[in-house]
Amino acid sequence: MKLRWKIFLTVAAAIVYSYMAFGKPTVPTTSMLAEKYRQFNEDYFLGQLPKDTVVTYGNLTQLNDMGYTWKENSGKFHITVDQETNPVERQAEMTLLHEQCHIEVEIHNLNPKQDFDAHGIEFQNCMVNLATHGAFHDLW
Ligand SMILES: [Zn+2]
Repeated sequence: MKLRWKIFLTVAAAIVYSYMAFGKPTVPTTSMLAEKYRQFNEDYFLGQLPKDTVVTYGNLTQLNDMGYTWKENSGKFHITVDQETNPVERQAEMTLLHEQCHIEVEIHNLNPKQDFDAHGIEFQNCMVNLATHGAFHDLW
């Protein structure tokens, strides 16, 4: 057998093994991320984040952001996870958790002197707490 056929078969076997071991990466959807928000709220935030938060898998190209959270005057939160920079489920989940930490800092008024979008010590504590509880398993 020629060397290039051996290389081709080796690469093909590696691809097949990778699919069998890890599965095809899942492309996120709005409904999937909304369900993840609910699940993460229960698993990592003791169900304390608002249950009426609107989660969208959308386009943040103009903002040049991976994720964005804003609050209506009524107090209702909106999270958008960018499609282009979060093409697979696990990446989108990590971005979603990041945005959920912004909401936690805001609703507990942990950092009233900083902007809503700040990444201060309270925000960092939230992310470290998530990591400690395994939220970024296999990611970080
Ligand atoms: Zn942020």
